[in-house]
Amino acid sequence: MKHRRFRIEKERIQGREAVIEDPGEIRRIRQVLRLKPGDTLALFDGEGNECNAVISSLSSRRVSLTLLQELSPVVVESPLKVILGLGLLKSSRFDWLVQKVTELGVSEIVPFFSSRVVPRWEESKGRSRQARWQKIASEAARQCRRVSIPKVHPPCSFEEMLAMEFAGAGKVFLWEEERAGTLKGALAQGASTIYALVGPEGGFSQPEALRAQEAGFLPVRLGPRILRAETAGIVIVSLLQFSLGDLN
Ligand code: SAH
Repeated sequence: MKHRRFRIEKERIQGREAVIEDPGEIRRIRQVLRLKPGDTLALFDGEGNECNAVISSLSSRRVSLTLLQELSPVVVESPLKVILGLGLLKSSRFDWLVQKVTELGVSEIVPFFSSRVVPRWEESKGRSRQARWQKIASEAARQCRRVSIPKVHPPCSFEEMLAMEFAGAGKVFLWEEERAGTLKGALAQGASTIYALVGPEGGFSQPEALRAQEAGFLPVRLGPRILRAETAGIVIVSLLQFSLGDLN
């Protein structure tokens, strides 16, 4: 059943009956997996619920299903909500990072421009990139059997990223020049939501580090070695999930 998971909107479920009308999903069911009436598959709604269903009929336009149980919450989502602010990287590396942090259970991704970000694009390209990252996150969520799809925000400015509010979030930023602040110290109070920032390849500038602190983010150093931005992103999510989430 590993790859037999399909997204379904709640509106497409009526009692025990459900229909899939998304052409991409139908193609996967009919042409890729070659499923037939009587075969079972799993449905998820992208909001944390899942159920099994059996195919009752299928055509090129729609797949009709009968649910075997009601949609109900499954526990593959971490009790810790991690929102990751990521300085933009070269496209292929950013794509890769979006995929990996989705596997590690990130909840939201906020891509941002800062003074040392190398890629610079028009706003319209920013929107198409967002759509692409959202798709990567959806695919990765499906592959690792998550039921909630992380939300990828449109790329924003450094200040907009600092100003984003996530209720009750502990706020940290990774700053390789920090000498006192450690992640252990920052996490000592515990939290169920963490907003963590990772700089771009060239790192944060001194003024940006100062602004982040003014905005309430605690600077933390991840050991004595300088990590590449994508390594830092993976490490911070792993450590947060280990300390406060479900990676243990
Ligand atoms: N400014 C640096 C490298 C930046 S590394 C330089 O060019 O020399 C990219 C990002 O990864 C940084 O902005 C930071 O957020 C994070 N990072 C990498 N290594 C880190 C460490 N040891 N401690 C904390 N953050 C680190």
